[in-house]
Amino acid sequence: MAEEKRVFQAEVAKLLDIVVHSLYSNREIFLRELISNASDSCDRLRYAALTQPDLLDGDADFKVTLTPDAEAGTLTLADNGIGMNHDDLVANLGTIARSGTAEFVRQLGGDAKKDVSLIGQFGVGFYSAFMVASKVRVVSRKAGEETAWVWESEGAGEFTVTQSTEAAPRGATITLTLRDDAKEYLEPGTLRRIVKKTSDHIAIPVFLRETGKDEEKLNAASALWARAKSEVTPEQYKEFYHHVAHAFDEPWLTLHYRAEGAIEYTGLLFIPGSKPFDLFQPERKSQVKLYVRRVFITDSVEDFLPPYLRFLRGVVDSADLPLNISRELLQHNPMLSKIRSGLVKRVLSEIGKKTDDAEGYAAFWENFGAVLKEGLYEDFERRDDILTLCRFHSTAAEGWTTPDEVVARMKPGQDEIYYITGDDAAALKRSPQLEAFQAKGIEVLLLTDPIDEFWVSSVGSFKGKTLRSVTESTLDLSKIEGNPDTEAAKAPEAEGLDGLIAVMKAALGDTIADIRRSERLTGSAVCLVAESGQMSIHLEKLLRAHRKLEHGTQRILEINPRHPLITRLAAKAAEKADISDAAHLLLDQARIQEGEPPADPADFARRLADVLEKGLAG
Ligand code: ADP
Ligand code: MG
Repeated sequence: MAEEKRVFQAEVAKLLDIVVHSLYSNREIFLRELISNASDSCDRLRYAALTQPDLLDGDADFKVTLTPDAEAGTLTLADNGIGMNHDDLVANLGTIARSGTAEFVRQLGGDAKKDVSLIGQFGVGFYSAFMVASKVRVVSRKAGEETAWVWESEGAGEFTVTQSTEAAPRGATITLTLRDDAKEYLEPGTLRRIVKKTSDHIAIPVFLRETGKDEEKLNAASALWARAKSEVTPEQYKEFYHHVAHAFDEPWLTLHYRAEGAIEYTGLLFIPGSKPFDLFQPERKSQVKLYVRRVFITDSVEDFLPPYLRFLRGVVDSADLPLNISRELLQHNPMLSKIRSGLVKRVLSEIGKKTDDAEGYAAFWENFGAVLKEGLYEDFERRDDILTLCRFHSTAAEGWTTPDEVVARMKPGQDEIYYITGDDAAALKRSPQLEAFQAKGIEVLLLTDPIDEFWVSSVGSFKGKTLRSVTESTLDLSKIEGNPDTEAAKAPEAEGLDGLIAVMKAALGDTIADIRRSERLTGSAVCLVAESGQMSIHLEKLLRAHRKLEHGTQRILEINPRHPLITRLAAKAAEKADISDAAHLLLDQARIQEGEPPADPADFARRLADVLEKGLAG
């Protein structure tokens, strides 16, 4: 049959280029990656055979065999797992399946050194073979099929897929023609060492086949999670984490435990030390692998773990779940929901134990806090537990602060907790709406994750205290102790304020809901606020950015009755002078402070030029 030539997906080509042309310091990981794939493929066949035992064709002894051939300069890895047919080869070994990874590769900058170190953080899977091989040949026959296929590539943009002319065993056989500088991977001693170090935890046996010798088993080949904690080293946990999470970093948390009692299961779970690239994909799927009595079932049971814990990686293995039901039915199994609630409870409590080390905890919080906060409104039952784990930026403290600290800092007479939402804590701190709070020394939470908009409105309170946005129109700080003893506060109020408000209202028409005198401004002349119960200005901006909302809501313009500009304008208005340009400019200024464009940029520019010109002329 004719050879079929194909080009790699652009992202793969880019990845290969980096892999091949940059000397990668830790290239022995190719072996771990290939063994990891072989093990996954055996897991998948074992699962498929639960319902289609014929697929095994009498061979249920899963294994991986390494055969170095010094003469030919090749290293061959063979597995008897599920294998790949023509279409699988093209799809799996020509593209990057995981969407987060493809997206990540697209963003690599082309600075070789930096790209390599970034790639080192998440691994390149199968393609890592090209770090040591000038040519890779995969012969594969898929379980249940007759035809075998040959995939071949030199890693330079193209690969070929051809029907095999010879019979091939089930599974995949990968032959690496080693580069001249990579001949060390032909040495049995080197292979022994690497397998022991990086693949000891793999549950299927890995054998070394040397000419003229018996096959030698290189790993322990028992499921790591089934071993006693005391028999697993930190290094082995880490290697297992790398395998199961496709990760390359240090786990932030390793949790290995056996639940006994009403339901029995073992969990070996990890929280990554860095942020995975696909954390904010719309599916929000759990990535913990589910095993039943050591048989891999799935890594995508819907709702197995709540989406707000989707940063967890690892495995859960239970003897109490039925082996022979479909993944779909499993989802509704009552045992599974018991396991879920046990897991959630345990994980939250383990995270809680790590809060004492504030700096270490901040690392976790910065990676995953935005995800965990989804639990505040999705898991009503555990809201308080989750809130205790939350950390905030606020006007009262540098760095992160805890809910308890916020409550402890409340002023006499203060019965609500105040917050403001936006994109950036430093910018929020300078918001005009905060002026009165700053002057009185009242703490305001600076909430900068998009998710904050959603939980504050649904949770409504915080340790029993109502949460209130500082951008609401009906704020009354007068009961709270603390004297805004500033010069600005002592300045006299503008005369004729009501008259000014009436003139401004007439000029601005229905671009705003109302104009009111402000109690919250001390330094700025104006600001925008929302009617109580109205969508916040920041949320509106988010929704509009995602095209979930077409028109903005009318806002209330507050004016500072003690500000010199307002005093002068009131005097002008009283003289019946035309202050329409100033009214529009003030509104636009308030909008700009919210990070919004002026209502009409052309008008804004013209008015500003006019006013400046008059100012210079005077
Ligand atoms: P990942 O393992 O993260 O999915 P890889 O690049 O390591 O990514 O592998 C890509 C895909 O190729 C795998 O998901 C799998 O579908 C397929 N694959 C790789 N090696 C094998 C193998 N030995 N047997 C069967 N399928 C394999
Ligand atoms: Mg892989």
